Amino acid sequence: MAFLEVENMSLQFGGVKACQNVNMRLEPGILYGLIGPNGAGKSTIFNVLTGIYAPTTGDVRLGGQSLVGKKPYEIAQMGIGRTFQNIRLFKELSVLENVMTSFYSSSETSIRDMIFQNKKFKQEEEEIRMKSMELLDVMGIKDLAEVPAGGLPYGKQRKLEIARALGLNPKLLLLDEPAAGLNPAETRELTTLIRDIQKQRHITVLLIEHDMGLVMKICEKIYVLVQGQLVCEGVAEVVQNDKRVIEAYLGV
Ligand code: ADP
Ligand code: MG
Repeated sequence: MAFLEVENMSLQFGGVKACQNVNMRLEPGILYGLIGPNGAGKSTIFNVLTGIYAPTTGDVRLGGQSLVGKKPYEIAQMGIGRTFQNIRLFKELSVLENVMTSFYSSSETSIRDMIFQNKKFKQEEEEIRMKSMELLDVMGIKDLAEVPAGGLPYGKQRKLEIARALGLNPKLLLLDEPAAGLNPAETRELTTLIRDIQKQRHITVLLIEHDMGLVMKICEKIYVLVQGQLVCEGVAEVVQNDKRVIEAYLGV
């Protein structure tokens, strides 16, 4: 049994076959890439893995347990964290508060504890504040902790999104085009950061990215999706030389 299993998963939106018989087996502690042309169905796979859509057929399992029918928050609590292709932050909240809310969503504190601000809540709040600051430090945005998230430069918002996803303490981290909109220097920095986080925390990462250089450089195994179907999987050298992959990208 693999850590994450996607088995014959298909998802259709009306007449659009967004995913067709997708099979994936992710092992713990590996950095995977998921690439493919626009509209291939990459984000849809993330949406199925996080309970936003239920597959039309097939199954998705984490540690042997099916995720189909589970709510997004339940899946987050089971250990899948994600970022979105279009940044989603609480723009009016501070950078620090954005990460803290993420910790609260997996905490045991009840609404009652929060409302009455009792001792348990106070202690936990202090702990969460410390852990959130540590994550901001890892992402290199600690000095911006008090700034409203909406006021951050774009590249730093991307980093904050990753910090938020890490606040859920995920076993599996799904990153949807984290380098989109970044300049080459920011992309290089983020690349190293993603690899370091993955190694230090021993988590599994599945990275959607259209920057091929980035994917080839850091991913240990790459899945290639074309028109909803996986056409190739393997290490960078295998994928780069695969005829179907070249055709899909060059349109020949
Ligand atoms: P990618 O992330 O690889 O660019 P997507 O997963 O976003 O591709 O989309 C795959 C296909 O599914 C596209 O044809 C897209 O238009 C379609 N699609 C995605 N989400 C929806 C939706 N909620 N309703 C209808 N069609 C959708
Ligand atoms: Mg997408």
